[in-house]
Amino acid sequence: MVTHGLGKGQVMKLEDWIILADGAQITEEFIPLPESDEEPESDEEPLANGTKLRWTLDENNYRVAIQINKGLLQVKSVIDGGGECHDDGCGCRPCADTRMVPPFPWSRRPLKQTLFADQKAWKASLPGGGTVTVTELQARPSEKKIPVELSDVEKIKALTKSYKVKTYSCQSVSPLERMIAYEGSVNNYRSILASITLDDDISNPRHRHVYTKQLMLTMPLYLKQKAEVQALGDQASVKPIKVVPSGKNNIYATINQQEHVVSFYDNKITLSTDMRFPNAGMLYDNFAQMGNPQFHVVYRRRKIPITL
Ligand SMILES: [Zn+2]
Repeated sequence: MVTHGLGKGQVMKLEDWIILADGAQITEEFIPLPESDEEPESDEEPLANGTKLRWTLDENNYRVAIQINKGLLQVKSVIDGGGECHDDGCGCRPCADTRMVPPFPWSRRPLKQTLFADQKAWKASLPGGGTVTVTELQARPSEKKIPVELSDVEKIKALTKSYKVKTYSCQSVSPLERMIAYEGSVNNYRSILASITLDDDISNPRHRHVYTKQLMLTMPLYLKQKAEVQALGDQASVKPIKVVPSGKNNIYATINQQEHVVSFYDNKITLSTDMRFPNAGMLYDNFAQMGNPQFHVVYRRRKIPITL
């Protein structure tokens, strides 16, 4: 990504900074955390990606940095009205690319970019005086309006589509079906073992061993499943709904301070029981049944509160 810099007094749009930061090839040196025995400043929390920091001394002296995955990237430094650019004679790729762009020769080289470990490291590099302003990256809820007239399940479906959520819910195998499958395997191994003759043993002694081992492994699984089916009674044939997490975008509901992944199955809202064990899903008809939880979406690594 090449920037030709801006004229004096011009302000680049936040969106452009974001594009700039995301596609940035970091060729400048990395400034590590300053070594110090001082206690870490507790008031400086990690910045969300896309957050813009601007240090301003006056209109001719300012710096702009933007938080990216790797750290805090200073994308512009203006001293006495002039942007800090790559040095004359620099042979880096952006400089080489700029060379091809008319008017030739270039009036400005690409702006110098410097990656800092964090906000503290960046602040330590600033000259004295001036003020620092922080601009949080704002979610753009206007892009993805969920119509209020929709039913609760339809709202979740709409969110899933709007925020490109890939997590889904599906029906899983019932405990009874699982038990029948194990039972089938056990019977199969038994009949194979029963059919092995003495002649078979002599010609292929491993044969009996292999199936005995399979039977030994499957038998406890079958017995455990059988006990579960007996304990469940009529409920043993109910196919549970499982939530299958997929992709990075997700809808979350916070209930009793715990986050659950939200999706839908058929005409019901599904909720993972636990973030770590999302397979066991719970089914709800509407938000009231869920206890009217707080919703948020994680979309492109940003947490966006959702009011439904
Ligand atoms: Zn260069």
